[in-house]
Amino acid sequence: MGKQLIAGNWKMFMRRDTAIELASGIAGTAWKQDSADVAVFPPFVYLMDVIRAVAGSPVTVGAQDMYCEDEGAFTGEVSPAMLRDIGCTWVIIGHSERRALFGEKDETVNEKINAALGAGLSPILCLGETLKQREGNEMEQVVTTQLKGGLKGLGQDQLRGFTIAYEPVWAIGTGKTATPEQADDAHAILRGVLESEFMVKNEHGVRILYGGSVKPENAEIILAQPNVDGALVGGASLKADSFSDIISAARKPGEVS
Ligand code: PEP
Repeated sequence: MGKQLIAGNWKMFMRRDTAIELASGIAGTAWKQDSADVAVFPPFVYLMDVIRAVAGSPVTVGAQDMYCEDEGAFTGEVSPAMLRDIGCTWVIIGHSERRALFGEKDETVNEKINAALGAGLSPILCLGETLKQREGNEMEQVVTTQLKGGLKGLGQDQLRGFTIAYEPVWAIGTGKTATPEQADDAHAILRGVLESEFMVKNEHGVRILYGGSVKPENAEIILAQPNVDGALVGGASLKADSFSDIISAARKPGEVS
C-alpha cells in the first residue's frame, strides 16, 4: 500500500478567519511532511477560502456531504459538479452523524457515491456500528451491510483507489477509541467483503481509514496496524498542532508494522 491518508473533518466548526488560519497551518506541515496524503473537510461556506489558503501545498480539500444530482430545484443542496467546479477533490459520504441525525440510508449513500464518482470526486464512504450493535455482536453484519449497500453496483475499475472510513459510532467524539486490534479486525472484515463481493484486491489500492477519537497520543499505534491505511479525524483536526502531530505519526510508505 502507498501513502496513508490523514483526513480532517471540521464538522460544523470554525469561522472564516480561524478556518483560513487552520488551513494555512496544516499546509505548512504538509509541505515539510510528505510521507502522508493530507485532506481537510471544512464546512461548505469556507471551502473556497480553504482551497485558496492551501493552494500550491500538498493539502487537498473536500466537502462533508453533497446531493446526488448535478443541478435542479433542490433548495439548500450542493451538487458534485459545483464541488468540482471550485476545486474540491474529495467528499465525505454517509458520515454517522448524517445517518443518525438526518436519516441517511444505504440507498442514499449509494446514490451519492455514484454521483460523486460520476463527477470526478473521490468519495470517502463512512460506516461503522453503534455501541448496542457491537455489544450485540453485530459489528460484522452491520459493516458488511453498509459496505455492500454503499458500493452496490460498483465495479473493480470504479473502486480502484477508493477510500472507506471505518468509524465505530461509539468512538466518534466520545474520547473512546477502538483498540488497535478492534480497528484492525474490522478493517480486515471490510477487506474480505471487498474481495468476495467486489473482486477488489490489494492491487486495487483501496484505503480503509480508521475514525473515532484519533488524537496525537493514540495515532501512532492505530496507524501502525497493517489493515489501517489512514485516519479520519474530527476533534483533533481543529488545531493545527494536534492534526500535524497525527500527520507525523503516519506509517511511511513501505514501512511494515
Ligand atoms: C469524525 O467526525 O469522523 C470523527 C472521527 O470525530 P472524532 O475524531 O472527534 O471522534
